[in-house]
Amino acid sequence: LSGRRQARSSILDPASNTQIIGISSGKGGVGKSTVTANLAVALARLGHRVGVIDADIYGFSIPRILGLKGRPMVIEGALAPQTAHGVQAISMGSLVDEETAVIWRGPMLMKALEQFLKDVLWGDLDYLLLDMPPGTGDIAISMYQLIPQSYLLLVTTPQPVASVVARRVAKMAEKTNQTVVGVIENMAYFICPHCGHTEEIFGRGGGQQIAEALGVPLLARLPLDRSLRESGDEGQPLAALKDDRIGQAFLEAARALH
Ligand code: ADP
Repeated sequence: LSGRRQARSSILDPASNTQIIGISSGKGGVGKSTVTANLAVALARLGHRVGVIDADIYGFSIPRILGLKGRPMVIEGALAPQTAHGVQAISMGSLVDEETAVIWRGPMLMKALEQFLKDVLWGDLDYLLLDMPPGTGDIAISMYQLIPQSYLLLVTTPQPVASVVARRVAKMAEKTNQTVVGVIENMAYFICPHCGHTEEIFGRGGGQQIAEALGVPLLARLPLDRSLRESGDEGQPLAALKDDRIGQAFLEAARALH
């Protein structure tokens, strides 16, 4: 990726119809990338043109979850996004080997994000989802600077402490005037496959609390479920399956987005 290229994409044009949504969480490991990939697939199944930017530049996991194979093609010096399950996607993970550590400071990360926005042949998109790194670091600030018209969607577990941390992201959104479009509570409960008992392993209510505090919808409460983890490891998002209960929850969240 050379830095001297003209902007090829109109995605950053505030007049563009593309809804750009950063999927954010207060901390890592809450399922933000899993949600990003599945929500993207669900939006595509509803007939929307969807792109995904893996803005978690050094913690990339979108290629594995979406099952992206090989490298993106370069066409006249610009990157063509890869396609999987009806979704277009670009990730640093497709440009380096899976075990390669991307050891960059803030300015390099910002440059990469800028190139993913400007130097990728996105075409016309209805939705562009960004899998953000956790927290309120450099990339979150860059995203706001590059795309002030972007929205945020918060992913949290039900733990009070997780939702307090997620609220920091919401506070940042307040400062930058970005609109939070909703909250998704992940790992909300676990249904024992043997006895059917429901256990709230990570506590209860964190998603609802933060949604109420922000006056935004709680778009989904997703269970802690082995199939969601396995589908992510295998590159077969549940949202792509026809009759999956968790896949349906992603479709409902996607429908509620507009
Ligand atoms: P983050 O992007 O917030 O760091 P990931 O989406 O990478 O989180 O998820 C972290 C790990 O937890 C992954 O292995 C993923 O498959 C798993 N995971 C996420 N959500 C669930 C869930 N609801 N049930 C089971 N495993 C999950």
